[in-house]
Formats: sequence, structure tokens, C-alpha cells
Amino acid sequence: MGNLKEVKEMPQIDYSLDNYKRPKLTTPSSEKKLLLHSCCAPCTGEVMEAMAASDIDTTIFFYNPNIHPIEEYELRKQENMRYADKLGMPFINADYDRDEWFERTKGQENEPERGERCSTCFDMRFEVTAKYASENGFDIISSTLGISRWKDMEQINASGTRSSAPYHIPYWDFNWRKKGGSSRMLELSKKEGFYQQEYCGCVYSLRDTNLWRVSRGREKIHRGVKFYQEAKLKLSQNN
Ligand code: SF4
Repeated sequence: MGNLKEVKEMPQIDYSLDNYKRPKLTTPSSEKKLLLHSCCAPCTGEVMEAMAASDIDTTIFFYNPNIHPIEEYELRKQENMRYADKLGMPFINADYDRDEWFERTKGQENEPERGERCSTCFDMRFEVTAKYASENGFDIISSTLGISRWKDMEQINASGTRSSAPYHIPYWDFNWRKKGGSSRMLELSKKEGFYQQEYCGCVYSLRDTNLWRVSRGREKIHRGVKFYQEAKLKLSQNN
């Protein structure tokens, strides 16, 4: 019996929206004003709620010129704005400078997801976020991109730190997936009926996701029609 370790029953934590007592978050060095880069409503909703519950002065910065086409960009943005309105959180609708995005990612069209093109894409979004923060009195930036299990958090954090350094703005690399963040993100998305995008965002991710689907005998993505709860709005547009 000497090698057998005692197995202790771990208490089950209920992370549901109704029952979980959320511990208050604090910024790394008690920074007061946070500029939170947002990629979309499903990823950002739970983080926004965490910030509001922690009394952290947060402004949402929607800067995603990677999202293609513009109808998809507008839909993701509107969903995020709707939730920011609901929480009374300031929302900055930044540029959609897709020409610059295409310029920067030239030669990386065939990179896989999580490859070099994604680092370029994160760098561009974080550079603009950090620049805006430094010019507008924010103390720290962060991003909700890392809450998605499809993303490489180390890649995102490295990009955030690298891109914000020239502006002397710290990047908060908090792991939003922890403490039930991932499951709460899903629950909140269902509760709010957020739009459920089916590809990362850029034209290349749309292409590759469709190729992957077709290779498995599945239909291509129908943009604008899938929501986390019952489909409530049909903005049907096939690719
Ligand atoms: S796959 Fe996603 S993160 Fe990577 S370049 Fe495209 S939009 Fe950006």
C-alpha cells in the first residue's frame, strides 16, 4: 500500500452565472484605467462582467481590421456595443483600416492559424491599442483574445508585451480562462444570445475553415446566421 497516495475529494465549484461568488480582480500594479482590446462579444462579455464586478475603470477598444468582410466586422462590433451599452461601459469604435492589415500580412497568406500571420495580426491590433492608451490617459492595456481555447495564449501575451513596450504602457497578461472564465463565457454568450462567429476573422481563416469543412463533407460557413441561443435574427448571406 506504500505507493498509493491518498486521493482527496476536490470541492466542486459552481461557476454558473447565478451562483459563483467572483473574487475581485486587481490590476498588476494597481493601475487605475484599463483600455481593454476586444475581439468580439462572446470573448469579451465575461471579461467585461469581471471588470465591472471588480470596479476596474474599463473602456472597451474595438480595433479589428482583420475581420473580413465588412458585414461580418459590423455584426461582431454591434454585438459588442450592445453589451457595453447594457453594462454602461465606454466603447471606442476604432478604425477599420483593412488596407494596412492586408499590407502588413502580405506574404503570410498561407500561414496556418497560430502562425506568423497571427503574430502580425496581434501586433498590429495591440500597437494601435497601446498608442491610443498612451495618448488618452490610460494606465494599462489588455485583450480578451486569450480567453478563446482556439488561441495560443503565450503567442498573444508575447505580442501584447512586445507591442505595448514602445508606448510605455504595461500589458496585463491575465489568464481569463481561469476560475471558470471559459465556462462562464459560454453561459453568458447563451444568456445574451450573442452572435456566434464560425471562423477567426480574416479572409484567410474563412478560406481555411471552409476548406477544412468541405474536406469533411460539411457545408461551408453561412455567415451572420448563428447565435448562441435560438437563431433570432437572419442576416443570411452565403459565401
Ligand atoms: S487567423 Fe485570426 S489571428 Fe490569425 S491572422 Fe487571421 S484573423 Fe488574425
